[in-house]
Amino acid sequence: MAPSKVDDHPKDECGVVAVYSPTGDAGHIAHTGLFSLQHRGQESAGIAVSDGETIRIHSDMGLVNQVFRNGELKALSGSMAIGHTRYSTTGSNQQCNVQPFLVDGANGRLALGHNGNIVDPIALQKRLTKQWGCEFTSTTDSEPIAYLMANAPGATWEERASYCMRTLQGAYSAVSLTPDAVMGFRDPLGVRPLCLGKLDGGWVMASESCALDHLGATFLRELEPGEIVIIDNDGLRSTICTPEQSNRALCIFEYIYLARPDSMLSNRLVYSTRSDMGARLAQEHPTDADVVIGVPDSATAAAVGYAQASGIPYSDGLVKNRYVGRTFMEPDQKSRDSGVRLKFNPLPEVVRDKRVVLVDDSIVRGTTTPHLVALVRRAGAAEVHVRVCSPPIRWPCYLGVDMSTRAELIASHKSVDEIRSFIGADSLGYLSMEGLLQVVDGVQGGYCDACFTGHYPVPVQLELTDKLVLETAKSPAKKRQAYG
Ligand code: SF4
Repeated sequence: MAPSKVDDHPKDECGVVAVYSPTGDAGHIAHTGLFSLQHRGQESAGIAVSDGETIRIHSDMGLVNQVFRNGELKALSGSMAIGHTRYSTTGSNQQCNVQPFLVDGANGRLALGHNGNIVDPIALQKRLTKQWGCEFTSTTDSEPIAYLMANAPGATWEERASYCMRTLQGAYSAVSLTPDAVMGFRDPLGVRPLCLGKLDGGWVMASESCALDHLGATFLRELEPGEIVIIDNDGLRSTICTPEQSNRALCIFEYIYLARPDSMLSNRLVYSTRSDMGARLAQEHPTDADVVIGVPDSATAAAVGYAQASGIPYSDGLVKNRYVGRTFMEPDQKSRDSGVRLKFNPLPEVVRDKRVVLVDDSIVRGTTTPHLVALVRRAGAAEVHVRVCSPPIRWPCYLGVDMSTRAELIASHKSVDEIRSFIGADSLGYLSMEGLLQVVDGVQGGYCDACFTGHYPVPVQLELTDKLVLETAKSPAKKRQAYG
């Protein structure tokens, strides 16, 4: 399915959770954790559970509450579990790609769920087929990671996971389950988040700390880049797989849009960070205006920050219909406009005859911003000044976020003033790269900012801009089919 053009955001990646619970309810805990991570992926969900001997799994297409609606959890009792909720970043949205994957190898049976993208999945597939005769049933880059773990040399899971981390290049925050252990590991760059918490004598790992809050778990810390955590009946063990290059590259877009505002990333609350971005935006791009409104929900915190720093009052000016699916299809201009109207409704009393600052978190292709501006104007705004809480996006993401191809990114081929004219705004201001890095206390190299700068933290291959790369490799016709 092609991504929605009504929602012009980068598409979220995946959410993972891992649980060790001595009381045997790990499946239920993973289920609750997945609900809290639903914003990271809405295409499919799955949970694998071990009772110490056998791994059982249930997964399907759909939201978490759709996949587990018929009492499937009752059959998933056990003290260890992993869960996954997916948005496709490599491989299309189809049944064979739902996670966790369950594979068999020289090290026994193993389930794995993965958030991120490795940069050369075709080479890894070929190597695994040649080296261990692995046969792949999916078109994702996650199944090769599962097979690598299941066959990696080494006497212990620490050694095997270390081998995997020396082999893989790219972004991976992964959770894995064997009959008698649950594991989490984070790539040496730390591109995707993964955190650790304590719960009732057991342990939880999750993509974001908001999942720990909902579970009533105590947040302990984020996993270090390159860290492997293994939990079994002997307790928790942690190893750092020291990378040759020690740069960190947390995805800066997690702060801008991807993570939930109530999550902690690198000891910063995402909500406060977004508010600070809005304040910095007000300093960089001030304007005379009567009211500040944000595009809900992701730009609300930034709009509040802009208002506080500028002294212009903040108000809710757009109401979001939360029940419009994220994959709403809109083939032509007219229906795209009606799609935006279906998703957002302006409050005329707030914007009528006012000079409005409209704050958004990002502009990817520019497919929705013109319609939002027109919507606010039709509601009576005298002027609309668009302020964007990120720098212009000029490069695609190869590390786990579906952001379109370079040609589709509006800022890759239009100047800021051309974009202003295209979206029909009275003025347009983007947060600068320096401003963004200052807000997150970043230094060059501490974050991945490649979609703004083109400076990728790992070597990437241009042909891998296509998330269907593994399908294309199998069958050129499949790519056309997958895009319909
Ligand atoms: Fe995040 Fe952008 Fe880097 Fe992708 S390219 S990991 S979206 S900062």
